[in-house]
Amino acid sequence: MERSIVHMDLDTFFVSCERLIDSRLNNKPVLIGGTSDRGVVASCSYEARKYGVHSAMPMRMARQLCPEAIVLRGNSGIYTKYSKLVTDVVKESVPLYEKSSIDEFYIDLTGMDKFFGCHQLASELRSKIIRETGLPISFGLSVNKTVSKIATGEAKPNNELKINFGTEKPFLAPLSVRKIPMVGEKTYNSLCDLGIKRIKTVQEMPINMMARVFGKHGASIWKKANGIDNTPVVKYHERKSISTERTFDKDTTDINKLKSIIVAMTENLIYQLRRGDKLTACVTFKIRYSDFQTYTKQKRISYSSSDHSILPVVMELYESLYQRRLLVRLIGVKFSHLVSGGHQINLFEDNDKILSLYQAMDKMRERFGDRAVIRAAGMDAKSISRWNPFNGEPPPLLPNRRR
Ligand SMILES: [Mg+2]
Repeated sequence: MERSIVHMDLDTFFVSCERLIDSRLNNKPVLIGGTSDRGVVASCSYEARKYGVHSAMPMRMARQLCPEAIVLRGNSGIYTKYSKLVTDVVKESVPLYEKSSIDEFYIDLTGMDKFFGCHQLASELRSKIIRETGLPISFGLSVNKTVSKIATGEAKPNNELKINFGTEKPFLAPLSVRKIPMVGEKTYNSLCDLGIKRIKTVQEMPINMMARVFGKHGASIWKKANGIDNTPVVKYHERKSISTERTFDKDTTDINKLKSIIVAMTENLIYQLRRGDKLTACVTFKIRYSDFQTYTKQKRISYSSSDHSILPVVMELYESLYQRRLLVRLIGVKFSHLVSGGHQINLFEDNDKILSLYQAMDKMRERFGDRAVIRAAGMDAKSISRWNPFNGEPPPLLPNRRR
């Protein structure tokens, strides 16, 4: 069955939020990101892009290219708030949507065309978002996620584009291979080295050749280049949380041990967020006493994947929940309301020193295992999960974990 998939993406999201708060930023080149020498551009206005500035560029270089640009540090609290406003509008308007990052949505409108026409529905939703939030947004509409996402890119800024069924390949053909969602800097360079610049060239190659050069990755690039993508729109609440639990062999009241384990569990879970390039906006803590009474408490936070923002919230929830002087049987930590795009937010959320510290710690964990670097407070905890919840693999069964 032919599907109708919409991809919606807010235009220069961080900049647009800042402009709602301060209209003096309108029509001016604006850069948002780390403001220090080693900072990176997280978002930039179209006025700045004219000078060759793009996101992920070192801030120093961006400032040299566009000295008149207004440079802002960014505020994840504000962006989280506006992201939620837009999500609320989407949620009340369509039956099935996936929030794929802080400023992006996939919407499945399959079957709706009988009654309204999908293009009209999507257009109305776009107008509604602009009207109710004041934020510019663009969309692409086609038979699948990949083609729609690329169409959104072509529609921008503040516009929409429909790719009719059957015209996916000719639409993609003249575009740069850089526009294929999974092609990053590295793959792009390798493709260029082979003389492959346009999507058309990939379309004309046999899939086996792509697979031979780039492996599994190559086959999926080929499929995307040919407008083939069967991945479903995954409902927002599904797979949008990660959690970890710990049942004690012997029920405990040792507060230091408890705290130590909570720190270790949380730290590991946050590392998993960063490894999956995810952010959380909701932290839940769970405690079960020896009488099997279970209590949970949650708190909404600004999108984050930083130890120093999340760990205190977990500890605060623990302090407020751990009231009964009873033996503790189980504790659990859960992060939900997950979205992608950690790299974007982390560019300005924190000071450089902390960011480089996390990067260094994560690198060591990547090389030497999850427990290569841990907070001293968490050292008492003997086992924490090595599971990466974002790579599609099931969680391993740990011998010391009760089921
Ligand atoms: Mg965007």
